[in-house]
Amino acid sequence: MKDSEDGPMADGTQRLPDTDHLDAVVVGAGVAGLYMLYRLRALGLSTRVFEAGDNVGGTWYWNRYPGARCDIESIDYSYSFSDDLQQEWDWSERYATQPEILRYVNHVADRFDLRRDIRFETRVTATHFDERNNHWSIETDRGDHVTASFCIMATGCLSSSQVPAIPGLDRFQGRWYHTGQWPHEGVDFTGQRVGVIGTGSSGIQSIPVIASHAAHVYVFQRTPNFSVPAHNAPLDPEYVRQIKANYAERRRKARESRSGFLVPLNKNTETPALDVSPEVRREEYEARWARGGFGLMASFSDLYSNKAANDTAAAFVHEKIRKIVHDPAVAEKLLPRDHPVGTKRLCVDSGYYATYNRDNVTLVDIRSAPIEEITPDGLRTRDSAYTLDSIVFATGFDAMTGALNRIDIRGRGGEALREKWVAGPRTYLGIASAGFPNLFLITGPGSPSVLSNMMTSIEQHVEWTTECIDYLRERRIDTIEPTLEAEDDWVDHVNDLAQETLYPTAGSWYMGANIPGKPRIFMPYVGGVGTYRKRCAEIAANGYEGFVLTTMSERELPASESTMAAPSPLSS
Ligand code: FAD
Ligand code: NAP
Repeated sequence: MKDSEDGPMADGTQRLPDTDHLDAVVVGAGVAGLYMLYRLRALGLSTRVFEAGDNVGGTWYWNRYPGARCDIESIDYSYSFSDDLQQEWDWSERYATQPEILRYVNHVADRFDLRRDIRFETRVTATHFDERNNHWSIETDRGDHVTASFCIMATGCLSSSQVPAIPGLDRFQGRWYHTGQWPHEGVDFTGQRVGVIGTGSSGIQSIPVIASHAAHVYVFQRTPNFSVPAHNAPLDPEYVRQIKANYAERRRKARESRSGFLVPLNKNTETPALDVSPEVRREEYEARWARGGFGLMASFSDLYSNKAANDTAAAFVHEKIRKIVHDPAVAEKLLPRDHPVGTKRLCVDSGYYATYNRDNVTLVDIRSAPIEEITPDGLRTRDSAYTLDSIVFATGFDAMTGALNRIDIRGRGGEALREKWVAGPRTYLGIASAGFPNLFLITGPGSPSVLSNMMTSIEQHVEWTTECIDYLRERRIDTIEPTLEAEDDWVDHVNDLAQETLYPTAGSWYMGANIPGKPRIFMPYVGGVGTYRKRCAEIAANGYEGFVLTTMSERELPASESTMAAPSPLSS
């Protein structure tokens, strides 16, 4: 096999298109794609990664907006697969900034010599399964045409950014930006009138920082969100030393946990909220608010399943907002009332609510008076016109399915994945889809993914996929794909679990509700990282229950004899 030497094109030079046959192609060079490459290389597989950006990092390469940082503590939001790596890397803050996380991902790429197998500035446009040869045929926007036995989609759950179709944007004379495609050179808002549309995590992180430079910030809010304080701070070296001394144990517990990281102050997690007195509840919420981060939602066992319990946490956050925001009318507008706390991704902020006490920040409620058009010098809502120098779209992503649906993925019989998923994504374990052999989805819909510390979930999927490929190769098995029965059972299981929670009551991006026309299906698996991991491991240990494994020679035989189809583990 040719290992072409033509490298990344950051300097603007052209490279010749690839035409190789590879063992594996990985799409995406975020944290998932990099780790996948590392593991497949260790198996001895010829592997190529295609990445649309001109460098590694994925989320942390694209989302360079002011204030961007992780919302899971860096000690946990980092790779665990190499003890040397986790021992040698020092995070400077509890929640690292985007530049620091990007430096870390670059360090990983260099430390493990990963770049030589990555083709940057190259977007995969199509991947078709060739049934005659049992391989994937992959095409890119640079004219590459490679084939590969395995195709692994590490395309990201939150990588396909969405600018809403508001009339007039093309006539806007100022500058506009999407948080998920931020200019690399940065943006200087000094002295500008800036409009920010969107108050999800990206808006909530960026608004305080933009407000500290801009002449005036207008925040156009359609739906208020719940946010908890990060209480970000430099990391104490003694604390880090203690973590590092027991890192392996911490990581093990994270893998077995519900969320993929150790939620601080976990003592009451088994207790329903209404089983304790209001005073005890308040004490619990106060302690978690003071600690900062996601811990609030782990105060009691039923905050995600019992509306009355959830209301107590929501009322607590409302009270905090009213206390922080001086103007009662503004505070009232900031109170989320349309969804239970936590059912849309909880935001973790640094000074978000207090930003509304600044003279140069105006909150505009576009629920009651929607934006009607972007004008050449700003925008106009139903009630007023705003003159703006810049507009920031913090309007989110076509989450979980967007990046996959942008690729023309075709499986057996030329079936298009996006057609198969037209009424919502259908997968087995969130890793594979029936009719699409040897196609693996890293943190695909139907897996814990975005409800967890993504690092933990990414590592688990990468490791499961690597072990699966190793299993196939050792046994000279050509293809693996889920049975329809196993897939249907899994989809039902994922839906049933979600219906037991409050999640489907919110119009969230988890439900596809942020994208006009997208089917409303709760996409991630809510059963928890530890439970899910165990299920995946059992399925593998039982010879890949629910999958069909086929060898080329057997394909000539009648179907009943040609495959090793294990029954769906959920059907019994
Ligand atoms: P990504 O990082 O999204 O990488 C996917 C890559 O695939 C991208 O570089 C993209 O360019 C490339 N790609 C996609 N399609 C193609 C194609 N057709 N051809 C070629 N390349 C393609 N999660 C947490 O757990 N904790 C956090 O604190 C956290 N913070 C976040 C902050 C922000 C601003 C955002 C947007 C997300 C955050 N997330 C967080 C989720 C985050 O996306 C994951 O943690 C993780 O970085 C995902 O890694 P990934 O490699 O799976 O995907
Ligand atoms: P988001 O949560 O989907 O928020 C998008 C915001 O834009 C919402 O307030 C939404 O309002 C608004 N919006 C969308 N379309 C609009 C329109 N046409 N008109 C007016 N408003 C519109 O997106 P995000 O903030 O980018 O975050 C996405 C996810 O990425 C997060 O949930 C999180 O998982 C991850 N993330 C994490 C961090 C972090 O803290 N580490 C930071 C950023 C992102 P509606 O609610 O009314 O739709």
